[in-house]
Amino acid sequence: MPKNTTSKRVCSFCGRPESQAVMMFSGMDGSCICDSCVEQAHEILEERLHRSPSKGGNLAQLDRIPTPAEIKAHLDQYVIGQDDAKRALSVAVYNHYKRIKYSDAKHEADEVEIEKSNIIIVGETGTGKTLLARTIARVLDVPFCIADATTLTEAGYVGDDVENVLVRLLQAADYNVEAAERGIVFIDEIDKIARKGDNPSITRDVSGEGVQQAMLKLLEGAVVSVPPQGGRKHPEQPMIQVNTRNILFIAGGAFDGIERAIASRLRSNVIGYNGTSTRQELDRHNMLKYILPMDLKHFGLIPELVGRFPMLTHLQPLDSEALLRILTEPRNALVKQYQALFKMDDIELVFEPEALQAVVDTAVHYKLGARGLRSIMEGIMTDFMFSLPELAKGTTLRITGALAKEKIGQANINTSLLQ
Ligand code: ADP
Repeated sequence: MPKNTTSKRVCSFCGRPESQAVMMFSGMDGSCICDSCVEQAHEILEERLHRSPSKGGNLAQLDRIPTPAEIKAHLDQYVIGQDDAKRALSVAVYNHYKRIKYSDAKHEADEVEIEKSNIIIVGETGTGKTLLARTIARVLDVPFCIADATTLTEAGYVGDDVENVLVRLLQAADYNVEAAERGIVFIDEIDKIARKGDNPSITRDVSGEGVQQAMLKLLEGAVVSVPPQGGRKHPEQPMIQVNTRNILFIAGGAFDGIERAIASRLRSNVIGYNGTSTRQELDRHNMLKYILPMDLKHFGLIPELVGRFPMLTHLQPLDSEALLRILTEPRNALVKQYQALFKMDDIELVFEPEALQAVVDTAVHYKLGARGLRSIMEGIMTDFMFSLPELAKGTTLRITGALAKEKIGQANINTSLLQ
């Protein structure tokens, strides 16, 4: 250890002289540590602490597995409607829990391999696919990440290798591999890697079938080498081995135009059955509820991939009634959020029903869906929030229908949201 004098101190860890350090701390024996070594030590410490099994890694230690009804009740607090999808997800997750507990308990004698219940959710954009997946991950207290299928390409091509999906999961788990191996990956826009056209040999289908093939390995459960790029470096461990056996994959996609394929399949069935009445019973506004795995194949997902997602569910389009509920009912509904913000300044915020209806009508008119609600509300509330600290404490701010419409007009929401 270099001997430090107060005049020319050097870091006892990296040898950096004081002149090159932002700050130098000295110990009682005269040894020193520089600011960058302190920072590094802090990082290592954080990482070690997060490796404790309580950080999402203790799923199997739970005494009681939440029942599907309990999981659904939790989803109900955050997600409006979408009952079919919630039930399917709750069952998938319940089984996921059981699989993990079961495999950890190592019941080797009567071993029955319970397969993973990866799930695919089909629904228009903005109807709650990501929200459902995110909320589920919260119930489970397991690491969760969202991967965008559009950025994935076959190995060797520009873009992300499929394994990169797991980098995000590792990051979400603070590089706790054991926790990551029980996490949930939401693969968004899975429909964008559909095979394009029936003749892939003419031009190489870099982002389509090749990616689907590569994804099979992840989905079925394999030990995958993941480059820990992005985030922190692990020089002593250039590749991290992750076993995907217990990772639950939830895929979501809008599958634009799939309704037509479903309709034509149903039509041909109906014709075969001579059932005019059956045809009338179809819910034409929600053809997705008749979706079958064969429709996904028809859309361009390879049969092996469809097979790795044993559960298929759909989301309903959101009508104005659903949008109104989304504004007010979920635990963190937008209206509740604004009211909480105002309450902090001791102002009561009241939205009259006509004001909320104006917000919903704008979202419906411009086909903005649930995602647009926030921007419209911001358009109404920004001015008020700007002057909020100056408003008299203990008063009530009432947003009437007329006021909401006026603000929506002024905020030029229509054009800004249309792009
Ligand atoms: P998707 O993944 O289907 O494109 P998201 O889940 O990202 O859509 O939804 C966008 C936003 O719209 C969410 O963050 C949420 O605020 C709201 N939202 C959408 N659907 C619902 C729903 N069914 N219940 C509550 N909020 C919803």
